[in-house]
Amino acid sequence: MNYYTSQRLSPSITRITDFTGVCCYLVEGEEKACLLDTCNGFGNIREYAETLTDKPLFIILTHGHIDHAPGACWFDEVYLNHADLKLVHQHASRSYRLERFSADPQNQTIPQADYCPDFTGKYRDIQDGQDFDLGGVSIQMIACPGHTQGMMMPLVREERTIIFGDGCGVGVLLFGENSSTVSEYKKSLEKIQMLQDQYDLILRNHGTFTSPKELLGNVIECCNAILEGRASGQKIITHGIEFFIAQAVDEQENRLDGKTGNIKYTADKAC
Ligand SMILES: [Zn+2]
Repeated sequence: MNYYTSQRLSPSITRITDFTGVCCYLVEGEEKACLLDTCNGFGNIREYAETLTDKPLFIILTHGHIDHAPGACWFDEVYLNHADLKLVHQHASRSYRLERFSADPQNQTIPQADYCPDFTGKYRDIQDGQDFDLGGVSIQMIACPGHTQGMMMPLVREERTIIFGDGCGVGVLLFGENSSTVSEYKKSLEKIQMLQDQYDLILRNHGTFTSPKELLGNVIECCNAILEGRASGQKIITHGIEFFIAQAVDEQENRLDGKTGNIKYTADKAC
């Protein structure tokens, strides 16, 4: 079974989407190609990506979550901010994925053989600001601790495109030991704000996959609302966890004030 589809967004960026609706991005230069994330780990995403490019392919993970990291198993080494090492060891493990996915009746027709194996290669650390030159196209990795401690946002300089991924979006999740507090997250976003003149396009990994530029300022305002006690107080269940949401939303989780950008957080992160 083929779990992937693709869409070319520009001469050097292709979106690959898996059957669950999560996406990752293939960036190609004249000499190399880079897969930024790997989706949920069904089938063989390496084989699929290699049908889209004839350049040597390597992997960078934006963070260690179950819906982005597992497909890296098809490579001998992968770049990941080491702040997410503990997280990725849990989330990319085959037994953890089998347990999480097979609990959903929707996934019970997926053959166990299609769950990709455990990663046995090497995780190479990424430094904040590290550049990856693909030949005429370069990716700068920007650390943005928040959603996870090791969250990185790739900036594809020549395309003036930044991949916010799960790091900033319409409902950023801050919860558990792997996420930062809201005040730490706000500092990360203010650092990204300093780069605003270097990008025109924001890409994400879920939902609509893209956002207008005002998203960043709106999510910083969500941080301020939480820290200053002006958040909505509304509760919302996602992935079985009860979150507070910064700005009030309707049943489709669209903000009532019509703006885009929101934060879902557990009470322990509201500081
Ligand atoms: Zn995530």
